[in-house]
Amino acid sequence: MATGMLHIDLDAIAANWRALDAKSAGATGAVVKADGYGLGVAPVAKTLAAAGARWFFVAVAEEGAGVRAALGPDVEIGVFSGHMAGDTGLLRAARLVPILNSAEQWARHQASLPDAPYGVQLDTGMNRLGLEPADWATCRAEMEAGPLKLVMSHLASADEPDHPQNQDQLRTFTEMTAGVTAPRSLSATGGILLGPDYHFDLTRPGIGLYGGLPFTDATPVVRLSLPVVQTRDLAPGETVGYGATFVAQAPTRIATISGGYADGLIRAMTGTGVLYAGDTPCPLAGRVSMDLMGVDVTHLDEVPESLDILAPHQSIDDLAEAAGTIGYEILTSLGGRYTRHYEGGVS
Ligand SMILES: *Cc1c(COP(=O)(O)O)cnc(C)c1O
Repeated sequence: MATGMLHIDLDAIAANWRALDAKSAGATGAVVKADGYGLGVAPVAKTLAAAGARWFFVAVAEEGAGVRAALGPDVEIGVFSGHMAGDTGLLRAARLVPILNSAEQWARHQASLPDAPYGVQLDTGMNRLGLEPADWATCRAEMEAGPLKLVMSHLASADEPDHPQNQDQLRTFTEMTAGVTAPRSLSATGGILLGPDYHFDLTRPGIGLYGGLPFTDATPVVRLSLPVVQTRDLAPGETVGYGATFVAQAPTRIATISGGYADGLIRAMTGTGVLYAGDTPCPLAGRVSMDLMGVDVTHLDEVPESLDILAPHQSIDDLAEAAGTIGYEILTSLGGRYTRHYEGGVS
């Protein structure tokens, strides 16, 4: 079998949720958008529900239907993109809670699902989603008169604790929601770490559940092992891969491993990426190609059957740094070709 093996530790996800729940002043939800950050929404969501999460969040209604199918009727599922044209049937069938972002969405919701619960997102400075203060002032009384389940906003700079935007957004959110009786929510993973002033009634962690920064104390969740397809010995002067960018300076042993940019192992890690044979680092040699990459294993006594690219020595954030990106992108890019092996949890 030449596919990589993605080990997903569901117990670690549950432990991360409990750790963030222990820090949260109020209740703790779980963000499972993008197929549970690429790890498989059904096992991830079931594990989080068993750990105690009662609010789940997705980006789009289609994802919410999958969460409902996995979890059954007893949880709330919020849809960050709100109530888009064409969503009504799905929202109704899967009993999703659209988090309304504009007066237009509010009008659509009232017209098509007048009795169905909803939330609202307020823009407090990120300028991505949410009602502006003036729209909120116009809609607020009517919205509060109906089944309003959640009033939320999102922090733009919470991964930088000293960024002045955090306090600005906190102040704006507090002002905009003064007197609101529906539960309030402001913080994702980064905001939880900013402290209880930022927590309100419900937090919405995503990346921290999956072992990523800024939750530095997270338990690692993923391990990714890539099989060695072939090993070869190079004489000095021979090259590896497209463009012949790696040139052997001495007798060199190269392992060709199964995994490339089509599997989310982005080409930008060329030149800086490292794989592990147990504890021993082995540098990439030559360009990452679509399905394969070369690894310098000259220093190993024995070439193993597989090398790890995500492992205890190399987190998603370490790999992200090598590739000039963020752990979120590494995680959500992990491709469909891997064999996913779940450990622990509820799958
Ligand atoms: C993705 C997202 C989250 C989760 O953010 P993390 O940084 O992964 O914890 C929370 N709220 C909103 C609105 C989001 O888009």
